[in-house]
Amino acid sequence: IKTIGVLTSGGDAPGMNAAIRAVVRTALAAGIKVKGIRKGYNGLLEEDIIDMDNKSVSDIIQRGGTILYTARCLEFIKPEGQDKGAAICKKHGIDGLVVIGGDGSFKGAAALAKRGVNTVGIPGTIDLDITCTDYTIGFDTAVNTAMETVDKVRDTSTSHERCSIIEVMGRNAGYIALWCGVSNGAEDILIRERYDYDEQHIIDKINKRRETGRKHYIIINAEGIGDSHGMAKRIEAATGMETRATIIGHAQRGGSPTARDRYYATAMGAKAVDLLIAGASNRVVAHKNGEFVDYDIEEALAMTKDIDQYMYDLAKRLSK
Ligand code: ATP
Repeated sequence: IKTIGVLTSGGDAPGMNAAIRAVVRTALAAGIKVKGIRKGYNGLLEEDIIDMDNKSVSDIIQRGGTILYTARCLEFIKPEGQDKGAAICKKHGIDGLVVIGGDGSFKGAAALAKRGVNTVGIPGTIDLDITCTDYTIGFDTAVNTAMETVDKVRDTSTSHERCSIIEVMGRNAGYIALWCGVSNGAEDILIRERYDYDEQHIIDKINKRRETGRKHYIIINAEGIGDSHGMAKRIEAATGMETRATIIGHAQRGGSPTARDRYYATAMGAKAVDLLIAGASNRVVAHKNGEFVDYDIEEALAMTKDIDQYMYDLAKRLSK
């Protein structure tokens, strides 16, 4: 391997910069050149490619977002786009590529591997919804941001004896909602994977808790489960308890990464380069059962995982 390219693709996540820094510095230390490809596969097809040195990743480990920008690229889903991408890699001498992103981005990496560009993926998404790994870059920061927001809403909720519905990210995966629900001691956690919520059940629970003198009621709602504002109106009408919805939104994607996100991103970035140096291709770095491992991309994409049933049940037990 003479030149490694690195790109970020799909949704951005805090900690991606720490991974980029680790990729660049591990490669340079091994005498390998590094090229940064901006705006994901879009930038590859547009040849938005820059040379990277030690200095180009100075002072970024603590920054959210991605200095390489990220994008989605429909053209790259087609074989012609993938042929063009592989040809551009060859033209720029890129014989190894690190792709930081989610499952969609790994499919792109697999397509390039078939066309002779050695590729390794690194899981980067705040949603934790990459099935081959217990950890994804950005999740820890996102959960902490959401948790702190819920704490703040809870203070005002208690003071006003309100019910609060707080919507967190995770349209397709309830990990942020589950972690927040447990960490914030929420009364209810509504997630797609366990779509057993029933507004009447929530209303009955609110009424029962009010009789025992409880001053607030916190519902964590994963994005995509109903309409939080509509739900707030219905709950208020049925219980007489003032109810407000707060949608945290994109604040969860940003901010300075936590130590855990920086630490894991650094380890994964270095591992991706070590794999390329060892001649590997079509691999994804993962953290599984407490260890950094790697899988074949197709094997990784075929894996399944689910939210932790024990923790979901425990949250219910503790909020009766
Ligand atoms: P996130 O879940 O954070 O959004 P992701 O990587 O899963 O991350 P996608 O939008 O699914 O996000 O994919 C990112 C990009 O990867 C796409 O815009 C496209 O360029 C490429 N990609 C997605 N699916 C494929 C595919 N089947 N073949 C080739 N490339 C793909």
